[in-house]
Amino acid sequence: MRQDQEDPDQRRSARVYARAGQAWSGPVGSPRGVLYDAVLLDRDGTLIEDVPYNGDPEKVRPVPGARAALDRLRAAGLRLAVVTNQSGLARGYFTEEQMRAVHSRVEELLGRFDAWLVCPHDDADGCDCRKPAPGLVHAAARQLGTSASRCVMVGDIGRDVAAALAAGAAGVLVPTPVTRPEEVAAAGWVAADLPSAVREILRRQEAVRPEPGGERIGTALVVRSDSAGDVLVTGPAIRAVAAGARRVVLLCGPRGRAAAELLPGVDEIIEHPLPWIDPTPAPVDPAAVRDLTARLAAVDADQAVVFTSFHQSALPLALLLRMAAIGRIAAISDDYPGSLLDVRHRVPVGVPEPERALSLAAAAGHRLPDGDEPVLRLRPDALPPLPAGLGDPGYVVLHPGSAASSRACPPELATRIAGALSAAGHRVLVTGGPDERAVTARVAAAGGIDLGGRTDLAGLAAIVADAAAVVVGNTGPAHLAAAAGVPVVSLFAPTVPFGQWGPYRVPTVRLGDAAAPCRDTRAASCPVPGHPCLSDVEPAEVVEALRVLAVAGGGGR
Ligand SMILES: [Zn+2]
Repeated sequence: MRQDQEDPDQRRSARVYARAGQAWSGPVGSPRGVLYDAVLLDRDGTLIEDVPYNGDPEKVRPVPGARAALDRLRAAGLRLAVVTNQSGLARGYFTEEQMRAVHSRVEELLGRFDAWLVCPHDDADGCDCRKPAPGLVHAAARQLGTSASRCVMVGDIGRDVAAALAAGAAGVLVPTPVTRPEEVAAAGWVAADLPSAVREILRRQEAVRPEPGGERIGTALVVRSDSAGDVLVTGPAIRAVAAGARRVVLLCGPRGRAAAELLPGVDEIIEHPLPWIDPTPAPVDPAAVRDLTARLAAVDADQAVVFTSFHQSALPLALLLRMAAIGRIAAISDDYPGSLLDVRHRVPVGVPEPERALSLAAAAGHRLPDGDEPVLRLRPDALPPLPAGLGDPGYVVLHPGSAASSRACPPELATRIAGALSAAGHRVLVTGGPDERAVTARVAAAGGIDLGGRTDLAGLAAIVADAAAVVVGNTGPAHLAAAAGVPVVSLFAPTVPFGQWGPYRVPTVRLGDAAAPCRDTRAASCPVPGHPCLSDVEPAEVVEALRVLAVAGGGGR
């Protein structure tokens, strides 16, 4: 992410109560986590029982299991910070001295925290640190010597999760009886209580750490069928395999080919459809399957790693890989694999797709090298020059379409969004594929430059990479934005889980009705009249989301 977005002025106004000394707090010699360096915790309702505007240390009551859970995080080498809105300061309900006494009592009961970050403001102050604004999360990460994307925030209300996502951190919601149902629906990661949240944080951290002692292999065959977005989210795992192999061959389908060309770490691509993966599958053609088997055998791979989505089976391809005499095959499979897999990996539901894939790479013996963050990336040399006439970087890309219409922004809404963004001073580029030209022309007419049908995927990636933000549904360009480190306003239809498919490790604001009836249907076309999950989004929410993401109107960034 660009420095000017990482670092808005807002932190000046947050109160930071850092501990003396910024040395690494984990046990001596403890390895840096692959996913996370730090856990940020909301105070009231998360660490301690919520006593409104409490200025009395005697009233501090930790939630059940808090001390032991926090000690597990400390023992794992994770840094801890408390990140809390305390508008009682602005309202004069307690003094700063009383608040410090409360915090001392919290540390007596729960142990030491590496930093305390407090927003002392009220909603009416319009500050940039009061959650759901991301200011405190950025400030906490900085205090702890890391970045927001290497933090996970735990809180009991939607504001906590929204602040985390807007900073590019992970967010875990631990609901209490006062948490609203729509906040629970919108959260991508929900845990029953604080100890469960901590268990899952540590489990995910461990799941991407391979057994030590893996030998570097010769040729690895990695497989990711399906569309561009699927291929892009597998990128970190493919880089992990590439770090442990001299040569990486990627088998992908026709819909993922263009994305495969953008991935670092891939030496060679084999394009071949796997008809049993497709939503509208073609009949199995024995001659095509024999051809594929012969091509796989010709790779002469030492190992195959088959990446799939949670609803796909790796086993049909595993059989072909066996017939191609590939010696070692790894895949995720809940179905009994018999003799088809050497490494049968299993992953609980809800894990982000990039981490799900990284955990399979780890099970197969591979990890990202030190210094390569677990983020989506693009090969810089794969991006073509920008078309002329776009002006300076810092525009907003609005991408209304999607291959699956259930996940597209309704054209009428996209048109109103273009008008609202333009009126707010944003320069808008409207993008879409060749078959979306009618929509992009209509949307751009309300305020923006129409680029519909003018780019291939690599060209779109280049345009996205110079954007200040991308407004898009759950579709390939959202993952292009994540891979370019560009913030996303996600118009996310809940047909698949946000926690698995939301933009990964990039500042994000989620909009839309997460509890709409299409939720978890995986429908390709909206099963509900009126497409209500997205059609009720107000353009003003998109303008506000850009403000939260520190994307300035008026053409600047
Ligand atoms: Zn504030």
